[in-house]
Amino acid sequence: KHNPEGDTEFLEDETTKIFARKVADHYSARTNQTLEEREASVIIHLKKLNNWIKSVLVQLYARRGDAVLDLACGKGGDLIKWDKARIGYYVGIDIAEGSIEDCRTRYNGDADHHQRRKKFSFPARLICGDCYEARLDHILADDAPFDICSCQFALHYSWSTEARARRALANISALLRPGGILIGTMPDANVIVKKLREAQGLTFGNSVYWIRFDEEHAEKKFNASSPFGIKYLFHLEDAVDCPEWIVPFHVFKSLAEEYGLELVFVKNSHEFVHEYLKKPEFVDLMRRLGALGDGNQDQSTLSPDEWEVAYLYLSFVLKKRGQPDRA
Ligand code: SAM
Repeated sequence: KHNPEGDTEFLEDETTKIFARKVADHYSARTNQTLEEREASVIIHLKKLNNWIKSVLVQLYARRGDAVLDLACGKGGDLIKWDKARIGYYVGIDIAEGSIEDCRTRYNGDADHHQRRKKFSFPARLICGDCYEARLDHILADDAPFDICSCQFALHYSWSTEARARRALANISALLRPGGILIGTMPDANVIVKKLREAQGLTFGNSVYWIRFDEEHAEKKFNASSPFGIKYLFHLEDAVDCPEWIVPFHVFKSLAEEYGLELVFVKNSHEFVHEYLKKPEFVDLMRRLGALGDGNQDQSTLSPDEWEVAYLYLSFVLKKRGQPDRA
């Protein structure tokens, strides 16, 4: 790998860049849905459930006045969650130009849609960039340190190479204050690999999603020669269609430790729902978001196929080592 010309590294890097572009183009091309289109989606309850999970994470960890770094912020779907937590400052970064544009429109108030909500109460900086390649500590030198970093449904896009995974963690670590928190969600590799092993071939799924491995990467997985670059194609009806990478959680955990980020908890979404639906305030929140029917059952309005997709994800919380600056 480390030959003097660095050829292999170069080739790997070029392929990686092509894939990063594919992911960016995919998300960039996704236009904003109208409220009616959103409600008609076959995965509407899954989307609401995922919003609930993210809201619970925000409510558990955000404090009034916090400086927040939202890595891979997308169209800014979490801006309202941060506003409710009364944060003091927000920086959002995403590789997809189209998504950052939508995020900017949402933050500034969408004139075309006669946005009724009041302006967000915190100042924000929105940047288009590759969070897994750029030195964000340079770009955000004047904005750091942050109290919270959030990376929702996106950290697995860094797992195409070790260099990118390390860049992601180095960026997060460099920008968080000591005692600062990283909250996130990403695919649960244990579940995906278990499903692959149970599948007849290299593809599995249900009416709303499919995952397809190619021979080479499935083999790589089974041989466990490298925990990076294990690619699969993910299709989620009405949401995602792009290459993604397996993140073996034990590797993520130990790599994060190298960057001074210690695991607070990791929970599969099913476990997360069961645990936090024991708390009345989060049951209320679920009801307000419309992910829960009147029956008070956690998955009562999700179809079994949507509930199976929820099982593909996990939530994690990590803490930056060191003494907090403040009480
Ligand atoms: N975090 C948002 C949310 O929860 O609504 C968006 C999640 S979306 C499933 C994944 C996002 O990751 C997309 O907006 C995509 O553009 C972004 N992304 C993927 N690779 C990235 C990279 N290298 N740098 C920054 N953003 C990236």
